[in-house]
Amino acid sequence: MRNFLFCFLTILTVSLSGQNLGITYIANEGVLIESAGKKVIIDALFDKYYDDYLHPDEALLEKMISGEAPYDDVDLLLSTHIHRDHFAPTMTGRFLKAHPETKLISSAQLAKSVTDDYAEGKTIGKQLEGIVRDTRKHEREVNGIKVTAFFIYHAGGSRTRNIENMGYLVEVNGKKILHLGDSDMNPDRFRELDLKSLGVDIAMVPYWYMADETGVSIIKDFIKPKDLVGIHFPKAGSPMALEEIAKNFPKARVFQKVFEKSQF
Ligand SMILES: [Zn+2]
Repeated sequence: MRNFLFCFLTILTVSLSGQNLGITYIANEGVLIESAGKKVIIDALFDKYYDDYLHPDEALLEKMISGEAPYDDVDLLLSTHIHRDHFAPTMTGRFLKAHPETKLISSAQLAKSVTDDYAEGKTIGKQLEGIVRDTRKHEREVNGIKVTAFFIYHAGGSRTRNIENMGYLVEVNGKKILHLGDSDMNPDRFRELDLKSLGVDIAMVPYWYMADETGVSIIKDFIKPKDLVGIHFPKAGSPMALEEIAKNFPKARVFQKVFEKSQF
């Protein structure tokens, strides 16, 4: 009996402290994060627009919108910015309308796009929060998930300055997952944000960070994640970039196929 109890308690402790967290790749920078009944979708609601990057096909979009498992009971929807390889206002609006349980936290620019460009935008206003761009970290708690949202300029310099790009650190069942959207590799901004002080378990970064000197030092000096995943890899991505990444981060992976999944 004592042995049995010991075993039971050990299993209980292990399962509580080591909650399995799964990240399923949807397309481009789109992912589904799942852990012990909690679900977060980031940058996955868009259709074919740019040919260079993967996109969810129509059947997958309809599954997500209609809430077919595993896309049911989604606690939180995050969209980093309004570019069409990350976000489409109509699909995002339809998703929120069909998922009254889900909240979207994004930039004021993106929230406005959903309200204005989705025909029934006015009816889902309560599910949307649009944060006005500034330099602070914004903390929220939604359906038991903690989110720290912040702005970093979009990659590409002055050409894309008007695009309000957000990064997110979400905490799901004790694990902290970072998603950078298309953040510019600006060491000063990363120094200012000091993400490593928040404790990053898994960082999802645009793959070019992992193959670039400045990007590598941002990851190593200012993010310091336990696990690293590259996203935004093109359909015809460079094998040389993958080799470089394998050299710089031997344990990291780069998502390349729809539905590939990592457990952490
Ligand atoms: Zn972009």
